Amino acid sequence: MKQSKLLIQTLRETPRDADVVSQQLMMRAGMIQKVAAGIYSYLPLAFRSIRKFEEIVREELAKDGCQELTMPAVLPAELWQESGRWKFYGDELLRFCDRKAKAEVAERRARGEKPDEREFYNFCLGPTHEEVITDIVRKNVRSYKQLPMNLFQIQTKFRDERRPRFGLMRGREFTMKDAYSFHADDTCADREYWVMFNAYKRIFSRLGVKFRPVEADSGAIGGSFTHEFHVLAGSGEDAILSCNACDYTSNIEKTEAPALPAGDPAGDRGAAFELKRDHFCTPGVLGQVEQAAGMKDAEHDGMPLSQTSKFFLYRATFADGSTKLVGAVLRGDHEVNPVKVKNFAGAAEMELMPLEEAEGFTGAKTGFMGPVGLKDVLILVDASLKGAVNLTCGANRTDYHHFGLDPARDLPGCTFTDLRMAAEHDTCTRCGKGTYQAFRGIEVGQVFKLGTKYSKSMSCTFLDEQGKENPMVMGCYGIGITRTVAAAVEQNYDADGIIWPWPIAPYQVHVVCLDPGSAEVSGVASQVEKDLEAAGFEVLHDDREGLSPGAKFKDADLLGFPLRLTVGAKGLKDGIVELRDRRTKDVVKLKPEAAVAEVSAARDRIMADLEAAGGR
Ligand code: ATP
Ligand code: MG
Repeated sequence: MKQSKLLIQTLRETPRDADVVSQQLMMRAGMIQKVAAGIYSYLPLAFRSIRKFEEIVREELAKDGCQELTMPAVLPAELWQESGRWKFYGDELLRFCDRKAKAEVAERRARGEKPDEREFYNFCLGPTHEEVITDIVRKNVRSYKQLPMNLFQIQTKFRDERRPRFGLMRGREFTMKDAYSFHADDTCADREYWVMFNAYKRIFSRLGVKFRPVEADSGAIGGSFTHEFHVLAGSGEDAILSCNACDYTSNIEKTEAPALPAGDPAGDRGAAFELKRDHFCTPGVLGQVEQAAGMKDAEHDGMPLSQTSKFFLYRATFADGSTKLVGAVLRGDHEVNPVKVKNFAGAAEMELMPLEEAEGFTGAKTGFMGPVGLKDVLILVDASLKGAVNLTCGANRTDYHHFGLDPARDLPGCTFTDLRMAAEHDTCTRCGKGTYQAFRGIEVGQVFKLGTKYSKSMSCTFLDEQGKENPMVMGCYGIGITRTVAAAVEQNYDADGIIWPWPIAPYQVHVVCLDPGSAEVSGVASQVEKDLEAAGFEVLHDDREGLSPGAKFKDADLLGFPLRLTVGAKGLKDGIVELRDRRTKDVVKLKPEAAVAEVSAARDRIMADLEAAGGR
């Protein structure tokens, strides 16, 4: 391919609204172009990388017998109402009226009614396809003999993300591989889960990126029903904790926190005081640190932070639409993990109670709310406070704190459980030997055992050997195709530009002709291009006229193909061209006729390095 004909414009300057490296470099390299917030065109170079990654995914899934199909992007509300998600999926689901529904709204308006258009929305853009695939399978599969089945598509998704950003990493429109499996029983579904888990390991290893499978939150279902696959990168949005002694690696949302021994404040431990109500007058003291310092009376001159408690009041909504208030009590120096609170409560949704409401409910301003004496609140206490006595807590009276809180005694009916955000250096709960290390990760894929959630609500059943009707057991498995390509860039770049991993490089060899005006030089460059292509390499030939060697090299580094082959009048005088490795910057001089042999050798070396580095 001749670069003079390629749709590409490279930029010297970093676009102002690009906030991560992959977005900056892919925009500067002319690979992607923003059309609207979170919506991008993939220009020819990006398209090639994306397609290559898709092919890797297809090849690996084919090995496990998955079948490819394509479902629509525009989905009817009815299917989503059937599963119940029409109500629960938030504003990320872009809903709208089709022509028929719009006509109905218009007609009602003409009759003088004031219809709320939102109630007439009858379509949405698919953010994920559990409903549609379940509908397909329930209409086509009847017998256990047809199971198991794993169906996938590589398709455009739309999620109206609150904050689209980071280019392809958090778009509103993006490409996803989504697979769904259907089984006669749990054992079979569990087996498929691990088959897909291993397929994902192969896929990301082939890509040559450093990644980790990570135990992740599976909502109220609990258990280890889901793993996320993360590409490790400082720009990752997720925090991951990984034990330095065993394999336990998990998303911090999920990481089990070891219960820490209750604090031992000067002399108080062992002698549990009675709860002294409104003991400390602490006007205007809101933060935990000031609070600890401000806990002063005849016996106390401040307190350790670990002897204070903090309190959060949430409103939980359950799958049946009912709600309940949930209060979480933690040590003052610990961070609450709302996902743990939500899961323990078994809630479908949970939000912090809005401040004004919470103030009305407790009768105190923020900073002075506490768990003592609240009615109709499910009180959960973090496991690290089991056995703790003589804590302080908000008094539910503005400017006052209690002293002497013994949760087991003073919060009748409370439950002790792990509510705390685990932290780096905490002792691993699995092996008890190692400690957690912190990483940042970009979630590029997820495997999830769904169970019968969709098959039950949507009656996706089969007849078993006895002719009895049963709901199918399901699994779902996603890979963010476009996000993964961007994540690969996040891990592979330097000051000059991208360093594409060979398997998804838009082109593998960049033939850079320094003197395209010379018939001899451009003749050699074109011959090398042809030879390499005939040998199966993908080549971009920079045949552009009127550019200095420096400008061409800058562009070549920015585009970041693994190998650059420079053909210039100067070298050719000695019958020499130059092959340069983008990553190592090593240069080899060779005769043009040796290009195929040298490029092949370089490819083998690069692939061997990639295999050695990949995966871990
Ligand atoms: P996130 O937590 O990052 O919002 P998710 O867990 O909601 O992602 P899934 O429903 O698991 O996403 O979708 C499968 C995969 O699709 C994700 O692992 C991710 O790689 C990709 N993906 C999800 N949202 C986006 C997005 N807004 N832009 C690009 N890729 C995305
Ligand atoms: Mg996910």
